[in-house]
Amino acid sequence: MPDFSIGVDLGGTNLRIAAVSTDGQLLEKITLGVKVTLGRDHVIGEMCDAIQRLTEQYRGSGRFVGAGIGVPGIIDMETGMMRKSANLPGWSDYPVRDEIERRLGARVCLDNDAKVAALGEQWLGAGRGIDNMAMITLGTGIGGAIILNGKIFYGMNGMAGEFGHVTIEPDGVPCGCGNHGCAERYASATALVRMAREAIESGNAPALAKLASSGDEFSAKSIYDLAMQGHEDAQRIFHRFGEVLGILLAGLINILNLNMFVIGGGVVSAWDAFAPQMFAELRERSLIYAATAPDDPMNDPLSKKEGASAQIANYARKKTIITRALLGSDAGLYGAARIPMS
Ligand SMILES: [Zn+2]
Repeated sequence: MPDFSIGVDLGGTNLRIAAVSTDGQLLEKITLGVKVTLGRDHVIGEMCDAIQRLTEQYRGSGRFVGAGIGVPGIIDMETGMMRKSANLPGWSDYPVRDEIERRLGARVCLDNDAKVAALGEQWLGAGRGIDNMAMITLGTGIGGAIILNGKIFYGMNGMAGEFGHVTIEPDGVPCGCGNHGCAERYASATALVRMAREAIESGNAPALAKLASSGDEFSAKSIYDLAMQGHEDAQRIFHRFGEVLGILLAGLINILNLNMFVIGGGVVSAWDAFAPQMFAELRERSLIYAATAPDDPMNDPLSKKEGASAQIANYARKKTIITRALLGSDAGLYGAARIPMS
């Protein structure tokens, strides 16, 4: 039997834990509601109990090689401390990794959630078999990661890949990071809702205004539904979203010239609404993309769950592949489990 590790996805609302074998088989997955309000020690206690239960259960079938934990925040890779996390108040400057290692008596790796998601996609998802890629995760904000030669590129101290805070508009909307006009202020779930509310205020968005006053949920999903029904005011929001994502990607392609860019996160399900404008921007703004674009980039065979094998022809022809993530929220679990294996 192959060895196994434990992957942990520590989100703001759920704590998910999986036992994964070194050949990529999911052995078991547990989802626990995390009461972040009960505090750090409570969450760490529940996490360690669940990891111990799983390791006991599978120890007979293979060697336990360690645990990897994906967390929503900036990690100091040397000390294993969390520098900053918007979703986990009270965790900053606490020796998270050392404390969990002490309790488990096993090797523990801590990493940023967007980086482990990219590693998961590269191992078992859209990037399977592709060594050089980047991933953009579209959610509340924008997460990012660069993978070179099959390994996460960390930069000097683990902060590489903050694509969400690249400036798109010099005098744009203020961002929590202190900058103005960051990409994630225009191309995230939060941004969609903000831009839709601004369109309503401008008085030029009848379908959006009707939705807002209906008492129904006003979310990225409901704005998407309006766009798909053909309402132009909602379509303009996704047009802007695709434009900004295209500008961001054009810059990344010009700098990195990678084989593949994987786009994941909850908002990627609105692909049909934003991707046409994204590809239009790319062709206009990146000479490298224009020279290396597949014949039909919107025809995305990966969505049929065939994995990278469907893209092997484009890969072999050295085309720039821009495609959707395949593993959904499990990417982070697989990627976290992958770290202690290397
Ligand atoms: Zn920012």
